[in-house]
Amino acid sequence: MVIASQDDTASMELETMLNRMQKLVLQYVRDGQSTDQAVVEYHSPDQLYKRIDFELPDEASGIDGTFDLIKSTLQYSVNAWNPRFMDKLYASTNPIGVISELLLAVLNSNAHVYHVSPVLTLMEIEVTKATAKLLGMGDKGGGLLCPGGSASNLLAMITARNTLYPTIKTEGYMPRPFNPAADYGKLTIFTSTHSHYSISKSAQVLGLGSSNVVQVPVDDDGCMHTDALAQLLQESIARGETPFFINATAGTTVLGAFDPIREISVIAKKFNCWLHVDGSWGASAVFSQHLMATQSWLDGSELADTFTINPHKLLGVPLQCSMLLTPHQGHLLFAKANSLKADYLFHGNPYDLGDGTVGCGRRPDAAKIFLAWKFYGREGLGQRVELAVSKAAQFTDLVRQRYSHGFLLVKDPCPFLQICFWFIPSGLPIATWRQQHIYDDKLSSITREIHRRLNASGQFMVDHAPVKDIPDFFRVVINAPSVNVHRDLSLLLDAIETISKDIDWLNYLSS
Ligand SMILES: *Cc1c(COP(=O)(O)O)cnc(C)c1O
Repeated sequence: MVIASQDDTASMELETMLNRMQKLVLQYVRDGQSTDQAVVEYHSPDQLYKRIDFELPDEASGIDGTFDLIKSTLQYSVNAWNPRFMDKLYASTNPIGVISELLLAVLNSNAHVYHVSPVLTLMEIEVTKATAKLLGMGDKGGGLLCPGGSASNLLAMITARNTLYPTIKTEGYMPRPFNPAADYGKLTIFTSTHSHYSISKSAQVLGLGSSNVVQVPVDDDGCMHTDALAQLLQESIARGETPFFINATAGTTVLGAFDPIREISVIAKKFNCWLHVDGSWGASAVFSQHLMATQSWLDGSELADTFTINPHKLLGVPLQCSMLLTPHQGHLLFAKANSLKADYLFHGNPYDLGDGTVGCGRRPDAAKIFLAWKFYGREGLGQRVELAVSKAAQFTDLVRQRYSHGFLLVKDPCPFLQICFWFIPSGLPIATWRQQHIYDDKLSSITREIHRRLNASGQFMVDHAPVKDIPDFFRVVINAPSVNVHRDLSLLLDAIETISKDIDWLNYLSS
């Protein structure tokens, strides 16, 4: 076996492997869609080391050896094509998703400069423009692709800081009172207690400090309290700090709540803050005209300075695919804020997209959402989200109907696509626990134990989560169009009841 050095060797080798791969891949997708197959054949790391040879060889393994490894990889991986995969917050991709990855693989293009990725660069410019337009950002909207929602949020915060306080780019971060001459105090960031941790992590990465991220309380529905936001901004100013960045979340990670963007934008303006919207999860709803006409989820999106949306979550585009959008001149805003060349706007090539990022080489992820959009149309992508919304409502009904079996919704109705509930096994002295304030702990233990057994069984893959002051609950995410309310979701509730029956809870909880 030698490294393929001639064109015909490469294409012949590829043909052989594509033929083999096609059979394996099609079988894998069929297995995933047949509901008598498990979501995963689950093993601990120790067991998996015994089943797969992870040794890296000195000698070439060739096609046969490598395909043995590919087969084991498929066999022991989680099959997200199975509709009973309902973990956070992605689902399987779809046929055009696989084809788009194949296209990128064969091109192996780098989307940092135009001349090495001309078509893909224009796709990135156009798909970010079109999405910004859907969000109401007008003709000047657009943006960039980033390697994930956390990366988009980070680039948003960097861009805000560099735009509002450009001296930090060259002089470093030297706020008052440490530097009495500075035109800014300690920079503070505002985000809700239910927002994604990437906001705090970005503050940490930027050297602003995660304790300068002010956690704004949420209301009963999990949405940011705008009165509290205004109050906390005042208090920060009174401490001599400089609030500069407000993050509103459109679809929180755990509960799926939408912060009121329009109201928050008024406050952001008043306090001269950059308004970022983290729509990593919920913003894909913008593809549905019906949802946009009937829900106020994304109302005020056009008022954001920057906006994150992850097609790799709700739209079935392969991981990773995340866009950072802005109404302020699209991708040029990022280049202006982050380029190291002061003369960028006059001498740089405005089509070299890498200039606006903190990276260099970039994966052309934009092509994947571009092709998905071409294939399904805006309407098809929107229908995918509508379908998930209607199935989530039906599943919520199912959970509610089993109240007498011990199922209890955390939020009723659920704000979006995460159905969050507890299961309280019968015969437990819940009322007494509640008086003794040990109710919460026990409820978390019950959720975790059932969850552990459920996922290990391979029948389903769901997640559990706590939120501030609320004990762990099941969090079932409705995303894939293939999930069937009666076939899959009733069965999930049955499985939880069955698993619970096998556990001697009084004994388990007292040990
Ligand atoms: C998933 C999520 C993120 C992070 O996105 P990644 O692509 O996983 O980095 C950020 N914010 C919210 C609200 C999310 O749900």
